[in-house]
Amino acid sequence: MVNLGCFETVVFLGGGGGSRRLSLRRWRMGASCGRQTHTAADDTIPDNTEGRPLNGATTQKRSSSVDVSGAIAMLESVAQELQGDTRLKMLSACKLARSIVRDNQVAPPDADKLAALYNLPEALISTAPPQLRASRPAGPELDMAVQLPPPLSEDLAQRVRSWNFNLHDVSKEDLPELCFGVMLGHEEFSQVDINRKRLWRFVQEIASRYRDNPFHSFRHAVDVTICCSCLVRMAQAARRVALSDPQVVVALLVSAMFHDTDHPGVMNGFLVATRHPLALLYNNQSVLENHHCSTALSLLERPELNFLNNLSGADQSQIKGHMITCVLATDVTTHMNFLKEYRACIEADGVANLKPDLIMKLLIKSADISNPTRPLKVYQPWIDGVMAEFFRQGDVERTLGLPISMNCDRHTVATAKCQVGFISFLVKPLFDGTLEYIPALKDVAMTNLEANLAHFKAL
Ligand SMILES: [Zn+2]
Repeated sequence: MVNLGCFETVVFLGGGGGSRRLSLRRWRMGASCGRQTHTAADDTIPDNTEGRPLNGATTQKRSSSVDVSGAIAMLESVAQELQGDTRLKMLSACKLARSIVRDNQVAPPDADKLAALYNLPEALISTAPPQLRASRPAGPELDMAVQLPPPLSEDLAQRVRSWNFNLHDVSKEDLPELCFGVMLGHEEFSQVDINRKRLWRFVQEIASRYRDNPFHSFRHAVDVTICCSCLVRMAQAARRVALSDPQVVVALLVSAMFHDTDHPGVMNGFLVATRHPLALLYNNQSVLENHHCSTALSLLERPELNFLNNLSGADQSQIKGHMITCVLATDVTTHMNFLKEYRACIEADGVANLKPDLIMKLLIKSADISNPTRPLKVYQPWIDGVMAEFFRQGDVERTLGLPISMNCDRHTVATAKCQVGFISFLVKPLFDGTLEYIPALKDVAMTNLEANLAHFKAL
């Protein structure tokens, strides 16, 4: 009996806050009988394992003392001296062993490329769901220690209702309170019987899950929530049927707040191109949007954060369904199809009778790309942020030898031209549609948009 032993290839991707296992495959072979068994083992390596990876990808062969290729070569030479059937079986087993070794090797250049991402993998890998502690109490005792923040001052409550409000005037520390106050300014939160203490905890938890990206930070999330709040008020003033359902309003505003939770600061295309675990998890489909939504809804499973606990199971499911609709709609690649669907529904049902799903999508999509509809002074800091984030992605793509994504090459992209394209091809067509639903946008948003477009065309 010739025993090849066992060998394992372990690929890690880890980062500053500790390493997480990306994949672990264990292959075992018994060459003597020509039989191969292959199992994908789901075990972990203790934290103090020698050679634990830090900040990048590492390939480890735990049985490094075994020279597998050498052993196979030795077997092949022994097999050559055998006769007949035994010889053929041995050679075939060796061939199989070689292919398994080859399949499980990570070529050093790939490992280097992953390492070059430095802290991005760590930023992207927080896919572990929050701890679920189903055995903990779920009753009112959970809320006793929670102190609600004071209501927004009258002045601030009034200012955030203005389309031209500048969120960059608010400090980062004050953003969760502002966001909470904006949501509670809608009576639908009382009508739906939202647990305010748990909603406050949820807001703070979500705020902590946003990263300090130049653009996709909690500030952007609050901006989108405030914009949705304004759009809801304007639509309700125009007596739009779809927004008479309080559950729709609650779902829209809360999902606006969490629609970019844990955003890594790179686009979907980057995750797909680097075969990131999140891209694999979501089959390359709306990868980030699925991640944002799934992260937030997982948090809702924690009793102390479940602000829907006073509602029936059916109502909770209904609201969560609305939230998923909203967040998945923020994938810009759905933009053109959405506009086609929107146009067809307007023609079929009339603008006043559009269905809630369509309106939630319209409003959150509009709010998400509403920066160019603000005065230039308010718009400019958002441009600075988004371009910094794009260029950071472009830098990483250059390092990895990947094609640099559109608008991401700091050496060739002109910011003004980029904004002209963004406004002309994405923002204006969408807001032209939103304007039909909310005519009051004409005097504020559309005026700003036209002025900004003219400004950047002239540069
Ligand atoms: Zn967004």
